[in-house]
Amino acid sequence: MSLANKLTEERRARLAAERLLEQMQVELQAANRKLGKHALALSEEIVETRAEVQNVRDENQRVKTDLSVANQKVEIAERRLWDSIEVIQDGFAFFDAESRLIAANRAWMGVFDGLEDVKPGASFVEILQIITEEGVVNIGDMTPAEWREMMLDRWQSPVPEPEIIRLWSGEYIKLIDQRGNDGGMVSLALNITDTVRYEEQLKDARYKAEAANRAKSSFLANMSHEIRTPMNGVVGMAELLLDTGLSEEQQLYAETIRNSGEALLVIINDVLDFSKIEADKLVLQTEQFDLERSIHELITLMQPTARDKGLDLLVDYDVFLPTRFEGDRGRIRQVLTNLMGNAIKFTETGHVLIRVVGVSPAEGEEARIHVTIEDTGIGIPEDKVGHIFGEFNQVDDERNRKFEGTGLGLSISEKLIRLMGGDIWVDSVDGEGSSFGFSLSLPVVEIPDPDATRMPSGLKRALLVDDCAANRDILARQLGVLGIETLSCGGGAEALTRIAEGVDLVVTTHTMPEMDGMELAEAIRAAGYHLPVILLSANTGAAENDPARQHLHAMLQKPVSRQELFTALKSVKVPNGQRPEPTQSAQKAPPKQADAPPAAAARLMRVLAAEDNKTNRLVYSKMVKALNIDLKFAENGIEAVELYQSFDPDVVFMDISMPEMDGKEATGKIREIEAGTGRHVPIVAMTAHAMGGDQEGILAAGLDFYLTKPLKKPAIIERISEACPVDACDPLGRDQAAG
Ligand code: ADP
Repeated sequence: MSLANKLTEERRARLAAERLLEQMQVELQAANRKLGKHALALSEEIVETRAEVQNVRDENQRVKTDLSVANQKVEIAERRLWDSIEVIQDGFAFFDAESRLIAANRAWMGVFDGLEDVKPGASFVEILQIITEEGVVNIGDMTPAEWREMMLDRWQSPVPEPEIIRLWSGEYIKLIDQRGNDGGMVSLALNITDTVRYEEQLKDARYKAEAANRAKSSFLANMSHEIRTPMNGVVGMAELLLDTGLSEEQQLYAETIRNSGEALLVIINDVLDFSKIEADKLVLQTEQFDLERSIHELITLMQPTARDKGLDLLVDYDVFLPTRFEGDRGRIRQVLTNLMGNAIKFTETGHVLIRVVGVSPAEGEEARIHVTIEDTGIGIPEDKVGHIFGEFNQVDDERNRKFEGTGLGLSISEKLIRLMGGDIWVDSVDGEGSSFGFSLSLPVVEIPDPDATRMPSGLKRALLVDDCAANRDILARQLGVLGIETLSCGGGAEALTRIAEGVDLVVTTHTMPEMDGMELAEAIRAAGYHLPVILLSANTGAAENDPARQHLHAMLQKPVSRQELFTALKSVKVPNGQRPEPTQSAQKAPPKQADAPPAAAARLMRVLAAEDNKTNRLVYSKMVKALNIDLKFAENGIEAVELYQSFDPDVVFMDISMPEMDGKEATGKIREIEAGTGRHVPIVAMTAHAMGGDQEGILAAGLDFYLTKPLKKPAIIERISEACPVDACDPLGRDQAAG
């Protein structure tokens, strides 16, 4: 190859190399640029990452700080908790699920008095073992193994019952253990030594108080006997004295002695009742009784006082409510007597109304009855209403001071009603009147016969005449439920004007201002009306002799019992819508012809009375003085038994407390003698004992009847008459009289 060619080729090669170089430089620059960009991105990323790392570091630091604060707080809380647990007087410990002690406070550990083995980690079984070995607990009659078994059984039960243990030191610890969710046990050991000691002291004090109370009530029983026996003499002798021809002045003195004696006996009875209830000695006696009759009997007793004060006594006994119940008749009467007596005592004008309402259940079931005693008397100030049921509490202001009383009546009534399971209350407006009420649940003995309330069909309309609006309202309601429409008038004059409105019957009260019931009956007849007139009188005895009596269809005791009212209404004859003539049917029946006299009696009735007290013997003999009997006295039980055999009495009156042999023992001896002979002489206890249960005790001793001192003449005569055998002449001399 030529040089020129070589040079050309060389140049071409150089040019190609230069181009390649250039191209490579371009590529290198591009790669450099790319590299630069990447490095930039990378460095930015590094910066960011660094910032994040810093953040995380800061966060970490904060968490660390928070954690340490929290830890400090937990430590403080834990320390405080433990400090608190340490200072409490009672023991506190907790165990893990394997029953190993985790921790316990000082009080809990203190029981073990430094025994080293009782420490965290010790198992419950080991602790029980230590307790019995070291005699930490007084395990009584149990063996250590039995005690440990008992305690372990309890520990393992799902919900351990609290357990009281006694430490060697005499302290009492109540263990209360509770299982946690993790199976561990929290154990509380309460030191109840003070409580137990206090309870023991209380028991001791209660025992002493009960003994004192028993002593008090037996003291009262004896006192009652001691007081009643001479009082029997005082009241009885005053009674006898009154039967002798006394001058007016002497009569007054003797009456005062008798009345004061009787008042004293009422107080003694109140105090006795009160202490009987207090000593839980009052036993309720259940018997069948007629509540309505009891109320009317009490009204009869209280009527004279009410009449003297010009008060109306009213009874509103729910027409369809049964009257025969089972309950303690005597105690219910006692409450009624107190409430009715108070109502009359604290009322100067107006009326006292006894209202009985209730729900009538089926026979044999219990009826809830409400009895209220409303009066229009002085009332009770609001601030005293809560106070009067307390013992010896009275309203005790100027106006009240003039009334007699002990302030025990309401307190006794309240206790009696509560004892019978009832409630008692009072509503009162000062100056306007009071309403005392009580409610009781009593089993019903007899549901009234519905026929008793079926009235004659012609009896449609009655005219009621009474100046007392409350009484008119009661009658109107009672007649209303019997299907009789009523017209009400406040007086006779108005009644005479309204009678023309057409009525089948007039029911009038007796005592009214201006024209009384008798005058009204006369005026009705004078006006030519022949319709029947029923008169309600609080004093039928006096009204019986009034010439106007002939105009009456019937005269009923006021307040009238439902039964009497129904009977009188039923006897009204209303012929075919005509005005009825007054009938004679309800007028007093002629006196019953005396029965034929018995065959002439051969002997006197023999009565034996055993009584150690001379005055009482005298009182007794005076009380039976008028009787036609052969009376002998025994002065003690031994004599009574002897006389029973030699005198062969028809009836024996037996004092209970007598020297040498008491009445119960003497009765026992008499019954022994009678055994197998078929004889049974009636023996009547005469006793001053008035404590609950006495009656049962006396009757259980073989006595047949029971009379409390001071003795009452009618009760003695009744017992003698009842015991009169056929071959003896009548002690009251009735056979001779009839013959
Ligand atoms: P006493 O009647 O013997 O004082 P009570 O316990 O029966 O005792 O009554 C206590 C007091 O309650 C009476 O003294 C009287 O102040 C008041 N009180 C009772 N009943 C009535 C009543 N119906 N009206 C006004 N006050 C009454």
